[in-house]
Amino acid sequence: MNNELLELWSIWETSLHNEEEQIKRQKSATSSKCTPKKLDDNVGVFKGSSKDYITTLTDCQCRDYALRRFPCKHMYRLAHELGVFVLNSTVSSNENISSELRMDDILPTLESLDKETLLFFAYQCYHLGNDNKNGPLTIKIDDWDLFQKLLDNKLLVGGKDYKASLSHLKVAELKELCKASPTKDIPKKKPDLVEYVLNNYDVTDVNFSKIYATFELSPEIKHMAFSLHKRIHSMYPNCEANSYFL
Ligand SMILES: [Zn+2]
Repeated sequence: MNNELLELWSIWETSLHNEEEQIKRQKSATSSKCTPKKLDDNVGVFKGSSKDYITTLTDCQCRDYALRRFPCKHMYRLAHELGVFVLNSTVSSNENISSELRMDDILPTLESLDKETLLFFAYQCYHLGNDNKNGPLTIKIDDWDLFQKLLDNKLLVGGKDYKASLSHLKVAELKELCKASPTKDIPKKKPDLVEYVLNNYDVTDVNFSKIYATFELSPEIKHMAFSLHKRIHSMYPNCEANSYFL
């Protein structure tokens, strides 16, 4: 263990860490949301709700520390990462946290899009769920220009699990997809049809059929699918009861 770091951390009395309010912060520190974006020279950078915080073992830029002047969840997490404090519960990490966007980062993009595109996007957010839990989706696209706008703005990306998503389609839909450019006799049974599509088309190209697309939320925004859905809904409070919202 690094004695210099232990000495820094020792400005906090050991008994302090057993206080109820401190234990709450130690619990929050184990969350994957509290993964440091960067760890450099014993200084951590943490993602806050509106800006990043720079954290050391004796100081943090967050509001909690500014108000209380006792170790916040960021300081506990940093102390854990640096090996000077043991968090009792399992500590979760999120490798992608450094690329994740906040709602404020994505608002200019949302505001640049038209209502129809946004409502379509909100509907997909709702169905994909946070962290693409239900994704990728394969759906019939009626308006490819609209869909392309979402790809261009990096809101949606092509999905990865093509076999699973193709399997969600009905036999008739799979046949329709193959008919777009048949390469040979199209099989009749669903598993064969799925294999046929995978073998004969470049499914990694979301536009491959120009009928169906397989997609999910881009990694930068996938953590906030439901917030995006809610946010877009709030942009159109008087929106006629349209099918995009359940
Ligand atoms: Zn803090």
